[in-house]
Amino acid sequence: MGPLGPRYLVPFHPKRVPHHFTDVLVIGGGLAGLRAAMAVDPSLRVLVVTKQAIEQSNSNYAQGGIAGVMDPEDRFENHVADTLRAGGDLCDESIVELVVREAPRRIRELMQWGARFDTEAGELALGREGGHSHDRIVHALGDSTGREVMRAVIERTKQLENVDHWGNTFTLDLLTHDGVCRGALVWNGKHGKTFVWAKQTILCTGGCGQIYRETTNPDVATGDGHAIAYRAGAELRDMEFMQFHPTVLYIAGSSRNLITEAMRGEGAWLVDRAGRRFMSDYDPRLELAPRDVVSQAIVSQMEKTRHPNVYLDLSHLDPERVRKRFPGIAACCAEFGLDITRDRIPVRPGAHYMIGGVTTDATGMTTIPGLWAAGEVTSTGLHGANRLASNSLLEGLVFGAHAGEGASAAAQAIDDDFHVEPLENPPVTHGPGEQPTDQLDLVDIRNTLKSLMWHSVGVRREQAGLVDAAETIDRWCRYVLNRQFTTPQGWELQNMIVVARLMTAAALERQESRGTHLRLDFPQPDPAWKRHLTFRR
Ligand SMILES: Cc1cc2nc3c(=O)[nH]c(=O)nc-3n(C[C@H](O)[C@H](O)[C@H](O)COP(=O)(O)OP(=O)(O)OC[C@H]3O[C@@H](n4cnc5c(N)ncnc54)[C@H](O)[C@@H]3O)c2cc1C
Repeated sequence: MGPLGPRYLVPFHPKRVPHHFTDVLVIGGGLAGLRAAMAVDPSLRVLVVTKQAIEQSNSNYAQGGIAGVMDPEDRFENHVADTLRAGGDLCDESIVELVVREAPRRIRELMQWGARFDTEAGELALGREGGHSHDRIVHALGDSTGREVMRAVIERTKQLENVDHWGNTFTLDLLTHDGVCRGALVWNGKHGKTFVWAKQTILCTGGCGQIYRETTNPDVATGDGHAIAYRAGAELRDMEFMQFHPTVLYIAGSSRNLITEAMRGEGAWLVDRAGRRFMSDYDPRLELAPRDVVSQAIVSQMEKTRHPNVYLDLSHLDPERVRKRFPGIAACCAEFGLDITRDRIPVRPGAHYMIGGVTTDATGMTTIPGLWAAGEVTSTGLHGANRLASNSLLEGLVFGAHAGEGASAAAQAIDDDFHVEPLENPPVTHGPGEQPTDQLDLVDIRNTLKSLMWHSVGVRREQAGLVDAAETIDRWCRYVLNRQFTTPQGWELQNMIVVARLMTAAALERQESRGTHLRLDFPQPDPAWKRHLTFRR
């Protein structure tokens, strides 16, 4: 696989674009990005850029909560052991230790900043999710933890006088000179392409679920940061590991809402189109088997019954209790004429959490000097080959804080000089002709890519499908990546193609099954594959 596309997505001429200077640039305003911005010394200027409004992020949609040892009955060792067990022998144990031990402190910080977690009898209410041996999930507003945490963190960030925010600002590429990151090229409707020169840059652009036809992720999650880092020469790791959530609402025309596994915890059955409860064909733990097992079983059953989904059935449970416990899902389904106490809810798996990403160390530093990263865009080694539920908001908090502190210290050591560096590999500028060289049906390619990824690089993979996917994406690379688009729609498509190609290459290379990566042609884990796959441009 050669380098995927040119170094920069768009042409530019340094004398024709506005220049902006800051000390620390944070790309992304989800939980990781805002936590990073808050960790920067108040004497430094921070600019946070977000692709859409600041409320649009995976963080805002998080449901279940944040994992941390908050109960005296629980032990750090338990949370560490649970994380390692989920991670399929690929976690970095020192990183797991670090994150688990910091968790209580990071959760308490959120409370100090005004996040109101649910309580019971005056104590934090601690939930339990699949894979956790103890009750240790703090949650808010029942199942809307992300909304409450982001409300508190956004309010707090707005009070910080040294932090500016540019919304609706698309980051196109990182600026590098002599192998060092110097900031980013961004675009917005107000001042067009703009160079943001920063002493230190922190990448917090989140995940890439939108690369799949079925996903729980909002539409900002197109993997831009993964592609941006790749073009700049950073190392990416573990790109074959995408976690699928087994039960995503599947109603034509509705958004793909995640149906929490608490519903199966309450006793909901998974049934096929004939109404048959099928999980006993796949796992003795039935509906409460681990996420990847349930996802794989559902896909098999959909194939066997030649039906596009399976169903959650709650009709045998107490209707009053069901309505009280799941008011949000009940209301959402009611919009489509479904009464969840009587009618079966159509569901199928969807891409949920990207485990792979930009390699970082314990301080949040990437392989490019001057570039730090935190949150879902990274591969820190915490999750290994499979993420333990509710460990990802925690990861964003911990490494957001580390990256912010590290970038802050590094920026403080650099004097202001307002100097504009010559850039590596500057692309040819076509002057006034910066138009797309041709018209392409971007929506068509995007939808085809999403379907291809779903079918060939989805829950279950095998050689022939992966080779076919790689060849198809290579064809798109040839005629999409070299074009110059002028809107975020085109740039997102280019980024999605780059990330999809890396994911496909990694999935092809790993000839075993481990964690979230299931190869039908290599169904067992292979000790020889107990290692990471890395990519660099
Ligand atoms: C439905 C759902 C439920 C979940 N539930 C849980 C849970 O209960 N517990 C848990 O731990 N995890 C959960 N997760 C996962 C968790 O929410 C995410 O992993 C986490 O929020 C990622 O945070 P982040 O800050 O890295 O990225 P995000 O919160 O996604 O933020 C990304 C930011 O980057 C910006 N951005 C992206 N591209 C660009 C660009 N090109 N230019 C400028 N800005 C850009 C976006 O605008 C956004 O501000 C859930 C995820 C989903 C989708």
